[in-house]
Amino acid sequence: MSATTSAPAGAATDRPSIAVENPATGEVIGHVPDMTAEVPSLVARARAAQSGWAARPIAARAELMHALRRWRDADRARIVASTIAETGKTYEDAIMNEVFAFADALAYWAKRGEGHLRDERVRPSGPLVLGRRFVVRRRPLGVVGVIAPWNYPVTLGLGDSIPALVAGNAVVLKPSEITPLTTDLVVRGFREAGLPEELLLVATGRGDTGAALVDHVDMVMFTGSTPTGRKVAARAAERLIPVSLELGGKDPMIVLADADLDRAANAAATWGLLNSGQICMSVERIYVEEPVHDAFVDELVAAVGRARSRGAHVPRPGDADVGSMTFPPQVDIVERHVADARERGARIHTGGRRGDGPGLWYEPTVLTGVDHDMLCMREETFGPTLPVMKVRDADEAVRLANDTTYGLASSVFTKDLAKGEAIARRIHAGSTAVNDALLQFLGRNAPFGGAKDSGVGARHGAEGIRKYTEPQTIMVSRLGLKRDIGWFPNSPRVSRLLERGLAAYYGR
Ligand code: NDP
Repeated sequence: MSATTSAPAGAATDRPSIAVENPATGEVIGHVPDMTAEVPSLVARARAAQSGWAARPIAARAELMHALRRWRDADRARIVASTIAETGKTYEDAIMNEVFAFADALAYWAKRGEGHLRDERVRPSGPLVLGRRFVVRRRPLGVVGVIAPWNYPVTLGLGDSIPALVAGNAVVLKPSEITPLTTDLVVRGFREAGLPEELLLVATGRGDTGAALVDHVDMVMFTGSTPTGRKVAARAAERLIPVSLELGGKDPMIVLADADLDRAANAAATWGLLNSGQICMSVERIYVEEPVHDAFVDELVAAVGRARSRGAHVPRPGDADVGSMTFPPQVDIVERHVADARERGARIHTGGRRGDGPGLWYEPTVLTGVDHDMLCMREETFGPTLPVMKVRDADEAVRLANDTTYGLASSVFTKDLAKGEAIARRIHAGSTAVNDALLQFLGRNAPFGGAKDSGVGARHGAEGIRKYTEPQTIMVSRLGLKRDIGWFPNSPRVSRLLERGLAAYYGR
């Protein structure tokens, strides 16, 4: 990809610009403007377009999402190339987890959005509302600000914009300053495919741009780190606007003595190293029952050894497994966590150092002899490290898995599926996989979100679209009386009768 200066469509010119680098090579591949000053006008434009969009039948909005999916399919190669260039991903990560995962989002919300938002008829709940009919309708919130991280700009930033649009909102999307190019490419393509221009606007910039967005929109969908999520929530609270927060994780994997160790080790290597471990729900720490600890570590080291780094060249299908790191400070964090573990006595079986530059690389790393005093077991690493800790039994594994402020995803490996599910229920996390990991994200009929410091709210399923609406309850009185029982003026006889009747009803 050659260096370009890309001004998101409709943006003013002559603003400070931000350079975007290819993290696998260190080359500058583009520039985007800092649009902080334009945020109020972007939101105003989106607001002006929103009411017409909300007035369209939801089936028409869904049909447009199918058209956008077809555009995305036709332009697959450009999206893959752009994603790889700005994130340093492998070919498979870009095509599966950005292009096809996003296609899945478009297909899901186009097909299921209407069902999740349909008016609900609600039965009167008791005698106090006898003779009334209730219907709950979902009204869009207006302009949704979507703030996205750099690890999956398409799947997360654009993916979270789709249900907001299907629900009848307009969206102003702020991609990370590290990875804004593919977002802009896709949004331009969507306009060619028929999306009305003002409905999905992109505000490129840094943290200040995100903060400005929170000050103007009607709802915020934020994905990013827990510290930034707190700031966003505090700012949104001042304005009393709803927020949905998808935040960091420190996801545990538990390997029980009866597990298929091959499968567990391959799962740990794949889901701990994919995107160089820069996934909110990466396997970040592993607890293994004592009798199989050493055998598991052998399998894991072998599996990690089979994972090939993509290097600085443009990856092709099947030629690599692990991409570069994407965000320069992230490499420093990984280095700090590994150095801390080493100083406190952990053993490094493989990796344990920065890869050779140019570009941002860290070698896939397996650590043993770790404990909960170490940074690598307590703080989000967001890198290609797999620390393994020996545990006495399942109870100790569950206790340690829950010994964290985070609660995003988690996994348990055992051949006894009932036991696996029972242990899953004891882990305090938004999701748990048994003999698997991470793929629950793509089960879109089920909510995906974080417990504890990993988030508030959920994406996917009914919650994943209803959060972009506010319920309006409409109560229709069917009695048609001039004056209902209990209306003014009160009378001793009616009051006594009412009291007696209700006491009998509630005292049953
Ligand atoms: P950050 O929290 O640093 O940034 C997220 C987004 O917020 C970026 O667009 C950033 O802009 C913007 N931002 C920064 N400061 C503010 C502010 N004060 N107000 C509003 N917006 C602001 O996260 P990262 O981009 O580093 O992403 C990595 C983190 O995201 C990890 O913790 C990871 O676990 C989490 N994550 C969670 C997911 C989930 O589903 N739970 C999924 C993916 C990632 P800019 O980048 O331009 O500074």
